[in-house]
Amino acid sequence: MVLGELSGSMYRALQQMKNATVIDEKVLDGCLNEISRALLQADVNFQMVKNMSQNIKKIVNLDKLAAGHDKRKIIQKAIFDELCKMLDTGKPSFVPKKGKPSVVMFVGLQGSGKTTSCTKYAYYHQKKGWKPALVCADTFRAGAFDQLKQNATKAKIPFYGSYEDSDPVNIAKQGVEKFRKENFDLVIIDTSGRHQQEASLFEEMRQLAEATKPDLVIFVMDSSIGQAAFSQAQAFNREVPVGAVIVTKTEGSAKGGGVLSAVAATKSPVIFLGTGEHVHEFEVFDVKPFVSRLLG
Ligand code: GDP
Repeated sequence: MVLGELSGSMYRALQQMKNATVIDEKVLDGCLNEISRALLQADVNFQMVKNMSQNIKKIVNLDKLAAGHDKRKIIQKAIFDELCKMLDTGKPSFVPKKGKPSVVMFVGLQGSGKTTSCTKYAYYHQKKGWKPALVCADTFRAGAFDQLKQNATKAKIPFYGSYEDSDPVNIAKQGVEKFRKENFDLVIIDTSGRHQQEASLFEEMRQLAEATKPDLVIFVMDSSIGQAAFSQAQAFNREVPVGAVIVTKTEGSAKGGGVLSAVAATKSPVIFLGTGEHVHEFEVFDVKPFVSRLLG
């Protein structure tokens, strides 16, 4: 993932603190201000940034630190730990098991990268010996089924969809039933997006979830949506119980902050990052290496 400006600014803030001759309250505040500014510029939610800064101030109590303590290290560790805490919500609400039938439903706005990520997710598991299958429950966007079909065919993953039926719930139910009967252990449902967060979209997501009883709902988010990340993720999470997040288009974005916001809004962990248009351009997300890279 390219973290660009965010990472650069965080790195500079830490360096300035490390280079200060004396570490006092003013230096700590200066460092935290710089880090907060960098996070806000990267579209991390204001309240989260404020909380993080306050937590660090509480942890790093300069007055109480005895002489001899390496204040620079303590500050750096507190920043690292707080950023990890922001991202680490534990495991996804459900982790599919190979050989046991699971249904995973993908949700997100149109263009977020759902269809692409569904295929990547299927491909990733197929390579690890699973039997995944894809169901196209997007009857809203013309060409959605063709796109899924094309992606699935390329990756040699069985798929299900319909050109005639315009009821996504019907299609999803039939697809799940079919693949369950055929002993697929990972049935992945691609859903419609629309451009806006609309009541009808959420109603459809609710109905789909009701009909297919997914074990896991994955929210797919485009990393470049910036400030909208928080409210978008929250809106989806209100309607369907999001259990994990996939952030897409992270290879070109300097706004890694969206990752932090989506996690805060859904209280769900990021599990994968999309790093390109191709099926293998998909990385398992790991909190600590991400934060290490963020801090440069
Ligand atoms: P959907 O409408 O949510 O199903 O979105 P699509 O899967 O159709 O993706 C929208 C566009 O984003 C397509 O052109 C994809 O190739 C592209 N895309 C999806 N994921 C990534 C990614 O991780 N990196 C890049 N560069 N492009 C992506």
